[in-house]
Amino acid sequence: MTLAGQNTPLLREMTVNNERAKRVAETVLVPPEKTRILTISNQKGGVGKTTTAVNLAASLARKGMRVLVIDLDPQGNASTALGVEHHNGVVGSFEVLVDGLAMADAVKQSPEHQNLLCLPATIDLAGAEIEMVGYESREHVLARSLQEFLASQEHPIHFVFIDSPPSFGLLTVNALVAATEVLVPIQCEYYALEGVTQLMNNIDRVRKGLNPNLIIGGILLTMFDNRTNLSSDVAEDVRKYFPKETLNATIPRSVRLSEAPSYQQTAISYDPKNSGSLAYQEAAIELAQRGVIK
Ligand code: ATP
Ligand code: MG
Repeated sequence: MTLAGQNTPLLREMTVNNERAKRVAETVLVPPEKTRILTISNQKGGVGKTTTAVNLAASLARKGMRVLVIDLDPQGNASTALGVEHHNGVVGSFEVLVDGLAMADAVKQSPEHQNLLCLPATIDLAGAEIEMVGYESREHVLARSLQEFLASQEHPIHFVFIDSPPSFGLLTVNALVAATEVLVPIQCEYYALEGVTQLMNNIDRVRKGLNPNLIIGGILLTMFDNRTNLSSDVAEDVRKYFPKETLNATIPRSVRLSEAPSYQQTAISYDPKNSGSLAYQEAAIELAQRGVIK
């Protein structure tokens, strides 16, 4: 049986997605003048922080940008998705933060793309906050190490994505102090906005005390389900409160996005033409093209 001449929803989606993929492929990105360092932050668990970090990073790498992902979550999910080893004994963000290891000695290239680098996280990182308690200016350790790494690169790094854990401890504070921008994923679900006020207050506190240049670089709606009114209501609310910050691209709920990590891949290499992967590629282009919002 042939699909030709039929107008099924599946066929319509395929046609639309082919057009979106074509537009993504045709877009040429200009590298930013200065490295943009984006911390993906939301103290709420499971809202899509890691999925966002790795898929935006992979999208930009494919577009010719040099990208570093810093895994700052002891769960090591970003390292897994980028196919970078992070078992016991691998040096990574723990050694950089706690032992003062140069970042260049721990950064690995992701097998996914030559432009894609990753500082992996091992489970050791779970003890880092305790180890660092007595350190002088302990909130600035990552920032200093990252700046040293960026300065040492022969070819400039254009984007850094820092994946932070679902808590507001010293690791997340280090991530926010090292960043130029915060990107907040918000899951299109009930209670989505609960906690966002607290997050914004925390970001404000970091800005006042530790990193005066930190801005909200964007808000990304994730796990949008177009079959429910709830998703649309939440999306509408978020856009009302944050009209300037919220990206037009919205990430749909997609099984492909959630199954890619089990193949040690981002969805961008696992299935680039899937709706979820396309949405991340569009979000990456939007972020890069709109530059730093004022
Ligand atoms: P944590 O707070 O534990 O670090 P997180 O905020 O990093 O979580 P993710 O790990 O990215 O969130 O996502 C949580 C779960 O939801 C994962 O299993 C992921 O594969 C899945 N997921 C993320 N985004 C989507 C999506 N758009 N559609 C379907 N599943 C998704
Ligand atoms: Mg995560």
